[in-house]
Amino acid sequence: MILAIDQGTTSTRAIAFEVSPQGAFNPVAVSQIELAQHFPQSGWVEHDAAEIWRATLQTCREVVRKAGGVGRFAAVGITNQRETSVIWDAATGEPLHRAVVWQDRRTAEATGRLAAAGHEAMVQAATGLILDPYFSASKYAWLLDAVPGARERATRGEVLLGTIDAWLIWKLTGGQAHVTDATNAARTSLMDLATLQWRPDLCDLFGVPIQALPEIKTCDALLGTTDPALFGRALPIHGAAGDQQAALVGHGALNPGDAKITYGTGAFLVANVGDRPVASTSRLLGTMAYAAGGTVDYALEGSIFSAGSAIQWLRDGLKVLSDSRQSEALAQTLKDNGGVYLVPGFTGLGAPWWEPEARGTVVGLTRDSGPAHMVRAALESLAYQTRDLLDALKKDGAPPLKRLKVDGGVTANAFAMQFVADICEVEVERPAFQEMTAMGAARLAAYGVGLTSELWTPPAEAPAVWRPRMGEAERARLLKGWRGAVKAAIIAAAPDAGGDA
Ligand code: ADP
Repeated sequence: MILAIDQGTTSTRAIAFEVSPQGAFNPVAVSQIELAQHFPQSGWVEHDAAEIWRATLQTCREVVRKAGGVGRFAAVGITNQRETSVIWDAATGEPLHRAVVWQDRRTAEATGRLAAAGHEAMVQAATGLILDPYFSASKYAWLLDAVPGARERATRGEVLLGTIDAWLIWKLTGGQAHVTDATNAARTSLMDLATLQWRPDLCDLFGVPIQALPEIKTCDALLGTTDPALFGRALPIHGAAGDQQAALVGHGALNPGDAKITYGTGAFLVANVGDRPVASTSRLLGTMAYAAGGTVDYALEGSIFSAGSAIQWLRDGLKVLSDSRQSEALAQTLKDNGGVYLVPGFTGLGAPWWEPEARGTVVGLTRDSGPAHMVRAALESLAYQTRDLLDALKKDGAPPLKRLKVDGGVTANAFAMQFVADICEVEVERPAFQEMTAMGAARLAAYGVGLTSELWTPPAEAPAVWRPRMGEAERARLLKGWRGAVKAAIIAAAPDAGGDA
């Protein structure tokens, strides 16, 4: 068995996967603990790293017990919320501050200053990332400033920095290993994508002592060995990847032209672009796909801020649904969208628009527009936003998409998935087992420790597949309507920007 740890933004989970001789992964035990969110100021989001560690230990112990004891396990795999930044004391093993979470915007001014000073092109060329508070480097610098004496102590290795994977590896090994995996390191703005090494010049630029950073290893490497006191026996930690990259591995999107999109609250597209980093000119992010089995593959990534959350809003805000699942039948009471489009910019628009000030916008209402139109427009917006990301991929010269692998709560909606296939002109494939993030971590660990000879083999259960069947003219008409709606949303957010109309 493999013990997979899935440390997410809102909860910490452990899952025991039984691995059959044929390479099938069967989840046999799960344990989950919710994680407290702290919002000390507007735009700030923090987690207690000590709480994360306690929850990890507790869920792991529970799963080991439920699955029949530590003797049944071959290795540990880790996947985690990315970018979230932890600072801790190497001697005491205690966090020196609450962790700064990926959503946190407190370093917007700092990254803005670096951009204004002209550093963005160099940072993007080296790391694939734009200058944004999202990534760890500016969060590390903030933490080093906030904890008295920390920067100086960090140069002596007395204070350590890391993303959640590094923090958990350090705790699991009883402080023996300060190690991260390349997919997590790629989200810091400090790692050179081409060499998978920290860049001293970027560390200097952000003010982060390189001595405080973990050693970078591949996703399937031996990352450390658990302290025998924790589970009664030492286990090798043999797999780690950030959540979106773990999902990519879980889906088996291991070759150029493979891509996955996770439709949850938001939606995250990761497209495998092959063995060389691709520099985006259409505001996607360049990052790692995975590094395992001697292969290093890169990816382009784009995020949609509001996907399932638009359905939540229809349910909880507008109250036109009592359950998300009703959205499918209600949308299908209409023969088409009636010219109504919803741009779900509730928290701004992500890639490729990057319009943080945009807001949700509905266009095309007529006197007979009703709840069904709103629901249909919300579901259709998933497909249009996906199309925008795929168009950006194409513009960046990414290899042609073979198919789109999907997971997440919204993929239960067959109407929405068919519409994605139609609008994006791509085959959409939903695997029967949905926990792709934990599955990816488990597959990396099983492969790393030698339990399986392939990183991925197709699951026994057939996936659900949707193929494009919409005519070209209809697709073109719908996309034209969508682009008009996006324009309206952007103009509404900055009514003065266009000058006198
Ligand atoms: P997360 O991991 O981001 O919490 P999930 O993958 O659990 O998200 O997906 C939950 C989201 O899926 C919710 O926003 C919910 O509105 C949406 N959702 C769930 N079922 C359906 C459905 N049948 N049709 C449309 N949306 C759905």
